[in-house]
Amino acid sequence: MRRPLVAGNWKMHGTRQSVDSLLKGLNQQDWPEGVDVMIAPPALYIQQCHASLIKSPVYIGAQSCASQAEPGALTGEISPAQLRDAGCEYVLVGHSERRSLFGETDEVVRKKFAAALACGLRPVLCVGETREQRDAGLTAEVVGTQLQVILDAFGVGGLAQGVVAYEPVWAIGTGLTADPEQAQDVHAMIRARLAIMDDEQAQLVQIVYGGSVKADNAEDLFAMPDIDGGLVGGASLNADEFGAIARAA
Ligand code: 13P
Repeated sequence: MRRPLVAGNWKMHGTRQSVDSLLKGLNQQDWPEGVDVMIAPPALYIQQCHASLIKSPVYIGAQSCASQAEPGALTGEISPAQLRDAGCEYVLVGHSERRSLFGETDEVVRKKFAAALACGLRPVLCVGETREQRDAGLTAEVVGTQLQVILDAFGVGGLAQGVVAYEPVWAIGTGLTADPEQAQDVHAMIRARLAIMDDEQAQLVQIVYGGSVKADNAEDLFAMPDIDGGLVGGASLNADEFGAIARAA
């Protein structure tokens, strides 16, 4: 059976002081057995988080990484090897904010995925459609294309070394959550697409949902058969709420 993953994407939030108090709160949580828990703080605070959570089961992830593993002249970038060195186990790739605000194409996402795997990080591949694309009936096509780029390069086995996060863009930071059935439909579509290529591996891939996950909707979302946990934005900045979401998985 697949283990659920509950991950917190802090985005560009926090100061040394607020991170310190969030970490105190995280260290007081009763983390559930059998659930993978991860936080992705801003890169600047990764080492602070790693040091503080060393005795807890919470993994550290990064929100993005450079598209090459080797050191080089890439001002401002952080390589997946450096993230691994700082204690990260995961890295988000292709978050919709990276795609829409920083011009990350599927090709860049593929390179980041490759570089992350090469460094022993678990890439969390984020996919999802905009409101306009959903309204035009393009959800399966958009999500399918975002996935296919990775599948062509790494197969379902390669994808299974990472995680898929379905994050409908219209549900991110808007308070509008996809309802559990709507999300399940897309998760099932994703798994069916993987199963055509390799059914055995497809059953192993963790597919998590992101977009306004809160303590009060997590249980219903996570009860769906193909929703293997969540990628939580805003609600992950509150330790008690994030703990409650993890316990709902
Ligand atoms: P919210 O939970 O704030 O909607 O953010 C979701 C997200 O983008 C997580 O990566």
